[in-house]
Amino acid sequence: MTITELLKKHFGYETFRDQQENIIKTICDQKDALVIMPTGGGKSVCYQIPALLFEGVTVVISPLIALMKDQVESLNENGIPATFLNSSLSASETHKRVREIGDGLYKLIYVAPEGLMSGAFLEVSRHMDITFVAVDEAHCISQWGHDFRPSYQSISTWVRTLPDRPVIAAFTATATHEVKKDIITLLDLHQPTSYISGVDRENLIYRVVKPPKKYDYLVKWLKEIPSDYTGIIYCATRKTVEQVATKLVKDGIDAGFYHGGLDTETRNRVQDEFMLDQKKIIVSTNAFGMGIDKPDVRFVIHYNMPKNMEAYYQEAGRAGRDGLESDCILMYDSSDIVKQKMLITQNSNDRERYTIQMENLQSLVDYCNTNNCLRGEIQNYFGENVDTFECNTCSNCLDESEEIDCTESAQKILSCIYRMDQRFGINLVVDVLRGAKTQRVRELRFDTLSTYGLLKEESTSVVKEQIMFLIAKGYINMSADEFPVLRLSPTSRGVLKGADKIIMKQTRLDIKDKKKAKKK
Ligand code: ADP
Repeated sequence: MTITELLKKHFGYETFRDQQENIIKTICDQKDALVIMPTGGGKSVCYQIPALLFEGVTVVISPLIALMKDQVESLNENGIPATFLNSSLSASETHKRVREIGDGLYKLIYVAPEGLMSGAFLEVSRHMDITFVAVDEAHCISQWGHDFRPSYQSISTWVRTLPDRPVIAAFTATATHEVKKDIITLLDLHQPTSYISGVDRENLIYRVVKPPKKYDYLVKWLKEIPSDYTGIIYCATRKTVEQVATKLVKDGIDAGFYHGGLDTETRNRVQDEFMLDQKKIIVSTNAFGMGIDKPDVRFVIHYNMPKNMEAYYQEAGRAGRDGLESDCILMYDSSDIVKQKMLITQNSNDRERYTIQMENLQSLVDYCNTNNCLRGEIQNYFGENVDTFECNTCSNCLDESEEIDCTESAQKILSCIYRMDQRFGINLVVDVLRGAKTQRVRELRFDTLSTYGLLKEESTSVVKEQIMFLIAKGYINMSADEFPVLRLSPTSRGVLKGADKIIMKQTRLDIKDKKKAKKK
């Protein structure tokens, strides 16, 4: 049977997509492969079809425990003998499955990376004819990636315990240059053929928005879209998830919610309701969606900024798997940067990892503040160098608002921070620049500074926005603690000397002062 016939027989598709056929042929020719294909691109058949053709057994290594069950069930329904081993099984069930594996009942075995070196599987795999190992979500092997899992590093140790070295293929949706190098080295791929589909997803409309009131923006947006649209709203914390979902329901929008704090039964129910279109909108933490294969998700909204570009790309990428136009909206709020920085500071005891995470976060902050095409920026981030790309669909390409030269205000802001001894937070800096007559300003004698009142014509929000822009662009450093302090960065010198220009889009500055707006 040809591979196209197998595709039709077992999966019901007439033709292969893009590179699928070549990838399958490479693997069947016993060559290692590195496959980078966007979410929804169709990676699974690239290892499932070779698994059918190889004489021996195929082991699929995947961290997505929730997904394994579904994949195995659908393989079984399509007449392919497959099973999985992971921590969701009881000891007796694991024992039974390991025995069946040893008896040669399965063509495909899904294993979580933690399970490879565990006694039972290690022992049985040593006596099996494993021809092919597919490593899914291969970026998890790299410290540089956004989802590092130490257990991935045991894969090559496990492979070395096998009687014959199998063909190995690594699959991931996102990989920067460093991550690619790590995958090849740490999985010990032998001269792999690389298949790198572009990261660009033509049907996704990317938008970065900075509404003064996120929730109001969200409700308005949701009320304007067709009522049968399905989508996910990601929030940073469980608390925000619940708050947003509760408010939406009160405002007449039938939203469900999902996070890791709910019991398994509730989580499964919410997932099923979403898959079956009984709940169209789910508000969730990033726990939702890993492995959810729903083709017609029409929008993914990030109510809070995620921790880096890879996470954003993956989460946003859950929209529009069916190829139809879908919206990916990132709501940007400077306080999210502070939150993310605090999280990184709290969670990292390793200096190198801390630096990597901060850099990764900064890339996303840059994305939120660029005037360039957003789709182009994503491609550039993943090393595709498309400097002059213009998609004409993203919020930046469609933003025809004027570009304003804010260099002079920026210089005033930077000098003011300097004169205040680089020891205070954003609110006091704004007060001094706007010439506020508060007790604190007077006590600290900041009303005697030469920079006092230099921006008194501007509204509080505009000055704040400009400061946030300078932070995002790296001219000001904001400390990552409870009371963030503003300091000048080494690059601020360029702005102070007039060598670097600060250009902001008019839309960013079209923000009304909340107090003034209320008075009117
Ligand atoms: P990935 O793992 O890359 O995110 P999947 O393997 O889950 O993607 O595939 C995404 C969707 O595309 C699935 O619904 C799958 O059934 C479908 N698909 C895969 N290959 C083909 C094909 N050749 N023709 C049509 N649909 C396909």
